[in-house]
Amino acid sequence: MNPAIPVFLYHAVMDDPPDWIAEFTVTPRDFAAHLDAVVDSGRTPVTISTLADHLAGRAPLPPRAVLLTFDDGFADLPGPTADALAGRGLPATAYLTTGAIAPGGRSLLPPAPMMPLGRTAELERFGMEIGSHTVTHAQLDTLTTRQLRAELLDSKAALEDTLGHPVPHLAYPHGYNSPRVRAMAARAGYETATAVRHALSSDRDERYRIARLIVRRSHTVADVSAWLAGDGARIAPYRDGPKTIAWRWYRRGRATLNGPEFAG
Ligand SMILES: [Zn+2]
Repeated sequence: MNPAIPVFLYHAVMDDPPDWIAEFTVTPRDFAAHLDAVVDSGRTPVTISTLADHLAGRAPLPPRAVLLTFDDGFADLPGPTADALAGRGLPATAYLTTGAIAPGGRSLLPPAPMMPLGRTAELERFGMEIGSHTVTHAQLDTLTTRQLRAELLDSKAALEDTLGHPVPHLAYPHGYNSPRVRAMAARAGYETATAVRHALSSDRDERYRIARLIVRRSHTVADVSAWLAGDGARIAPYRDGPKTIAWRWYRRGRATLNGPEFAG
């Protein structure tokens, strides 16, 4: 049996995104077609808690799970995107960049229409689970320990204050992480963290770097259907290659010189 679990990563769903996020934005029409493919696949849509329970050995996963995740907190999320998901009975997970959505907050994300933090509880009523996507969206593997701790704890606290319950799941901005970031995420009270990796996850994936597939505007329904079939990408877990490690050292050196940078 193919053990692949596709964890889709969406950003904005809109027709006229700002240029900087356009590559990672799908139109509402393409999005609807993707969701129909998810329904037609016969997979069981779950949120991150279900995968977390399985990876922690607390509960089995339903057969052929699939996850839909949304990063950053763009304005469409509590509106047409939540409607499209709820209309098909699809639960999802939203990772919010608190500095970009809180009143008076600050983040490294360039300007874009964002949802307000005050609508976070509404997302839950639509069947979404809320996770943290840090405060400023910095590249976590380049930060000092103090900066890293603030990104992990302050975003968690802001969401917990708003929702009134624990928020034990994290997504690394742009997926950037390292052994140190993963250990700090665990120490900050997170049970899981999703990365990117451009790979399919699996029922044996690593809790602190769950693989996700970024959906780009150029991806077709055929791409989405291939991933749903467990094809078209490698299956995590697997070790970091030398390129990933070299790229991390390069970015860390640059951050030392220039300060924290936006992670796309
Ligand atoms: Zn992001």
